[in-house]
Amino acid sequence: MKAGKIILFVLAGFALVFSFLFLLSSGGQTGGFNQIYVGLGLAGVAFILIFFATRLKAPGDSTQNVTVNIDLPGEVGMDTIKCKSCGGVLSEKDIKMVAGAPVVTCPFCGTTYQLSEEPKW
Ligand SMILES: [Zn+2]
Repeated sequence: MKAGKIILFVLAGFALVFSFLFLLSSGGQTGGFNQIYVGLGLAGVAFILIFFATRLKAPGDSTQNVTVNIDLPGEVGMDTIKCKSCGGVLSEKDIKMVAGAPVVTCPFCGTTYQLSEEPKW
């Protein structure tokens, strides 16, 4: 899916470059109407390709836009946080702000570590 998007953008880039070449070459010559049409057609193809490329991109981005707000300790209650050492489920009570950084103290194994370094739990 991502490769297809890149190919579409590359093709669109080539189409744009060639359309400009056709338009530029048509300017100096008399009776270059065909080249203008070819240039405009290539530009249209390029914009269609870009349109499809951006459409391909849309569904992937919609899932990425759901960003997890790490605003401790208010938002953390939504997700279950697991201890990196023993895998025990941690609660908000186990998270403390130490020097501006959220620090987790596991009640099961007693491990203490910072949360901010691992946004993905
Ligand atoms: Zn633990």
